[in-house]
Amino acid sequence: MDFNPCTKHQLIRKSVREFAENEIKPHVSDLDREARFPWEIVEKMKPLNFFGLQTPREYGGADLDTISYAIVIEEISRVSAALGLCVTVHNSVGIYPILKFGTKTQKTTFVPDLAGGARIGAFCLTEANAGSDAGGVETHAVEVADGYVLNGTKIFVTNGGVCGTILVFAVSETEAKKGLASVFIVEKERPGFSVGEIEDLCGMRANPVSSLFFEDCKVPHENLLGRMGQGIKIGLSALDTGRIGIAAQALGIAQAAFEAAASYAKERQQFSRPISKFQTIQNYLADIATEIDASRLLLYRAAARKDSGQPFSAESSMAKLHCSATARKVTDLAVQIHGGYGYSKEYDVERYFRDAKVTQIYEGTSEVQKLVIARSILSQPS
Ligand SMILES: Cc1cc2nc3c(=O)[nH]c(=O)nc-3n(C[C@H](O)[C@H](O)[C@H](O)COP(=O)(O)OP(=O)(O)OC[C@H]3O[C@@H](n4cnc5c(N)ncnc54)[C@H](O)[C@@H]3O)c2cc1C
Repeated sequence: MDFNPCTKHQLIRKSVREFAENEIKPHVSDLDREARFPWEIVEKMKPLNFFGLQTPREYGGADLDTISYAIVIEEISRVSAALGLCVTVHNSVGIYPILKFGTKTQKTTFVPDLAGGARIGAFCLTEANAGSDAGGVETHAVEVADGYVLNGTKIFVTNGGVCGTILVFAVSETEAKKGLASVFIVEKERPGFSVGEIEDLCGMRANPVSSLFFEDCKVPHENLLGRMGQGIKIGLSALDTGRIGIAAQALGIAQAAFEAAASYAKERQQFSRPISKFQTIQNYLADIATEIDASRLLLYRAAARKDSGQPFSAESSMAKLHCSATARKVTDLAVQIHGGYGYSKEYDVERYFRDAKVTQIYEGTSEVQKLVIARSILSQPS
């Protein structure tokens, strides 16, 4: 067991940090305030392989291991959680299911454009009546001679306003009775597909989260991912890997809040001394540092298990559960350490505080992560 990062992981962290500090940080407050997706930054990210992080080289990706992937998401999210969200959703639940369940033709047709960033990926499971309960999907697929016709509305789709290739969960009549679903790959140009209003969110405001509409939207048979009825299996597998990305995103937010809080505590003077001299503030910083370290260890363990081919479902849920709770706690304390200034948009901790909350909600709420973990515990022989 080696707790030291290898040279490759150190170099990846250094280069992504430099990129994020130089290219993203100067714009991040404006992007949040204007709720604007930064296409100009995305253009700079494309040639650096941010959109094909774990995609094999034959499809134009960087073929990174999962620890490297987590480090990249952590470092982007340390500066912009909204861009971290875009990149992690695109790479994990956007591309990974095609790589894992797709045919050779589907991989060669869809993955190179995604990996090169020419198309942004989206993953559409959630509907008005299907949130934590994926079995409630009502979007339906009817098979016709030359493909499938989709009808339904997906809500809260990350990257919704900018997506090019979309994975859509839908049920056919026979599947609905069995509680099964299927996944269809939909290109944004398909007639019948349209994008709803961009959500006015509390945080992650630079990500264009939106509803997506499918009205008699026809896709050819070749766009069915996996087999009919395999949707839940594909979804659960995608979310196991996706949760590593959300855990990394939460960790990046927590790390940023920690750095801001520690530096403010050393500068801010009250009662004729820096507030870092007060035991209470020191306790806050000690708690924050400990929670962040524990989160990072859980995250890298889940990533390492995935890389070594071991089961990692419970471990990725534990990482997501703990990292997101840490992000909430740390951003709360970072605002507290900043006092009234922390509640002002002049300071980044206000944004970290808003961004952190949703990491406990998407890709499975914290309550759902506990169900996954408990299921794993109870399935072990006693
Ligand atoms: C910014 C943002 C981006 C998102 N991006 C995507 C995306 O790209 N693709 C996508 O498909 N979805 C996306 N979502 C949706 C997200 O995954 C869902 O909001 C989430 O799964 C919870 O579903 P829900 O909102 O319907 O809440 P509900 O399922 O209605 O849950 C409400 C509450 O009940 C609890 N609860 C529900 N069931 C149980 C249970 N069995 N046991 C205990 N407690 C339970 C929940 O934990 C929660 O506290 C996004 C959401 C947001 C806010």
